[in-house]
Amino acid sequence: MDKMDCIFEEGPIEGGEPYSIASEDAYVVSAKARCWRCRAVIEVVCIYCAAGEILGDHYEEFAVSNITAVDAALWRQLERWPSFRFGYSRTAEGRYLANHCPCCRALQGDYFLHCEPGGAFFTLKGAPPGVIAVTPLLGRIRLTGDEGFEP
Ligand SMILES: [Zn+2]
Repeated sequence: MDKMDCIFEEGPIEGGEPYSIASEDAYVVSAKARCWRCRAVIEVVCIYCAAGEILGDHYEEFAVSNITAVDAALWRQLERWPSFRFGYSRTAEGRYLANHCPCCRALQGDYFLHCEPGGAFFTLKGAPPGVIAVTPLLGRIRLTGDEGFEP
């Protein structure tokens, strides 16, 4: 299953928009994590919006997890991170854009990266300097996923 199969896989959502989130100020945030299966140190990434619209309303500073659809503009830019691709998660009971270990191919669950203390993306603002690298995404990107705000 490659990313191309998953673009536009979801039908229109509320308001007729095909995606729940849009942003012209979005970033790929990457960090090092340890694969839960083979213990290799790997790069994991997530999408972070400094500002954007969620279902048409303006919000600032949120990360997006459990991504189920991305538009072509975002998909093209994500080719730089081939280990960040659609995969099936039993925990999430569905397919979403997830990090995979390049060594053993295990899916690295968004829940553990974003929601568990110690997860690479549990806190972005509080991360030590140098631990997290940020790459700006160009133009307007659209995607469907779960937004997460830091307190
Ligand atoms: Zn692994």
